[in-house]
Amino acid sequence: MDIRIGFGWDSHAFKPGIPLRLGGLTVDHNEGLAGHSDGDVVLHAITDALLGAVAAGDIGSFFPPGDPRWKDADSAIFLKLALEEIQNAGYGIANVDTTLIIAAPKISPIAGEMRGRVADLLGIDMEQVSIKAKTPEGLGLDHVAQCHAVALLERSKEPDELKSMSAVIESQRQLEDVVDDLLSSVHGVPKKRGVPVYDTEDIT
Ligand SMILES: [Zn+2]
Repeated sequence: MDIRIGFGWDSHAFKPGIPLRLGGLTVDHNEGLAGHSDGDVVLHAITDALLGAVAAGDIGSFFPPGDPRWKDADSAIFLKLALEEIQNAGYGIANVDTTLIIAAPKISPIAGEMRGRVADLLGIDMEQVSIKAKTPEGLGLDHVAQCHAVALLERSKEPDELKSMSAVIESQRQLEDVVDDLLSSVHGVPKKRGVPVYDTEDIT
């Protein structure tokens, strides 16, 4: 199969006195989204869309809410793990589309920056990421933020493509290391990455 599609949805309630994290950004607002992690409803929905596209479960199966390691965690970690999952399955991202349902703050002034941040995290171009927002008219849900996300994946044609994707995310080694540890614990197989500690040819 050359293409796959995935869908994700998430919601979090607003809570005073905590930072608002949306799409990997800290957004200036008088309250934030409560969650076991940083409550980033946009990154959670995209994470589920990616995992869903390769039928790899959902965010909760990799990161159980009761696990103290994910208390206040940066949700970029979850997104990186989902990205590794789809790459390991032989796919790359064609595009991601999202709709955020939120009463306040206004998203349009920051949508561009958010697209850039999500694209950076996914190692793709900004043109491949769409961030749209609506207010929850008639739903009586002004105290909640929801996000819907769809992701279209296409099979990576060349192994080189995978290599170049890895190079793009090389700059975020810390996140990568965390993701590697997680994959090892989930799949029970250590992943090989990077260069050996020393080159045997140099010491002979
Ligand atoms: Zn969530």
